[in-house]
Amino acid sequence: MARFSKGRSAATLSILAVASLALSACGGGGTPGDSGSNKFEVAKDVSISGSPTFDKIKSAGKIIIGVKEDQPGLGYKNAASGERSGFDIEIAQWMAASLGYGSDKIEFKPVDSAAREQALANGDVNLYVGTYSITDKRKALVSFVGPYFVTGQGLLVAKDNTTINSEKDLDGKTVCSATGSTPLQNIQQNFPKVKVTSFDKYSQCVDALKNGQVDAVTTDQAILIGYASQDPEKLKVVGEPFTTEKYGIGLPKGDTALCQALTKTLTDGGSTWTKIYDETLGKSGTKVEQPTPDACS
Ligand code: GLU
Repeated sequence: MARFSKGRSAATLSILAVASLALSACGGGGTPGDSGSNKFEVAKDVSISGSPTFDKIKSAGKIIIGVKEDQPGLGYKNAASGERSGFDIEIAQWMAASLGYGSDKIEFKPVDSAAREQALANGDVNLYVGTYSITDKRKALVSFVGPYFVTGQGLLVAKDNTTINSEKDLDGKTVCSATGSTPLQNIQQNFPKVKVTSFDKYSQCVDALKNGQVDAVTTDQAILIGYASQDPEKLKVVGEPFTTEKYGIGLPKGDTALCQALTKTLTDGGSTWTKIYDETLGKSGTKVEQPTPDACS
C-alpha cells in the first residue's frame, strides 16, 4: 500500500489535517456533529425538491452508500483498523458532503458487483460508488451520475508468467472475473476459447491466481493496478486496456433531481476531483483529466 500513502508530505499538512483525513476515511466513525473531521466541506440547508432518495436520506438522518472494500486504491477497508480508503470512497464522501452529510453521517455498505442493481432498487443503499460501469443494460434498472472516471478492461497475471502478454494470448487459458461484471460478460461473449471462473469478489480471483488455480484475472485496469501494487513480487498487469469502462455513481432509477444535484457537484467542483485522484489512484504516477459528466436523462 506504499503507493497510496507516499507523497502526502507531513510538511504540507498540519497534524490536525492528518487527523481529519484519518477520521474522514473511517466512514461511519468520527464524532457526531464534528464537522472538523470532514475532508470535504459539508453543505448546509440543502434542499432538493422532487427527489425520493433525498427525502429518504433526510428522514433517516444519514446516507447509505454502497461500496467495494477489497479494491486497493479504489474502495478498500483495512481489516485491522477498519479504515476505508481509495478514490471511490473519497468520491462518495465528496458527494455526501455536497448533500449535507459529513463522514459521521455516512453508512458504507459493501455490495458486490452482481448485487448492485437490486441493492439500489430495494433501497438498501441510497447511492452506489464502486467501479460501476455505465451501460445501457444497467441504465434500464438504475440511473447514473457521471462518468466520473474512465478506465478499461485489463489483465493481471503471475509475475513469472511469460505466456500471457495481452488479451490475444488467452485462448485455452482460465481467466477469473467477478460475477455480474462487464469484463466477465465480455470474455464470455467475445472470447469463446477462454475458460472462465467467476467469484463474487475480485479478491477471490486474486487468491485463485496466486494459488495457481487460474491463469489470469480480468477486470478494469485501475482495479488490477491496485492488486499488483499490493503484491508486486507476485503479480503484474500486462497488455493495454481493451474496452472502455466509464464509472458512474448509481442511483435509484429515475431520481433525476438527485442526479442533477450530484452532476452539478461533479461539474462545479473546481480542483476537488484532481485532489482526490492525486491522493489515491494518481499515486501510481499516471496523470488523467476529470471526464465531463453526461446530462441526466
Ligand atoms: N467496471 C466493471 C463493472 O462495473 C468491472 C468492475 C466491477 O465489477 O465493479 O462491471
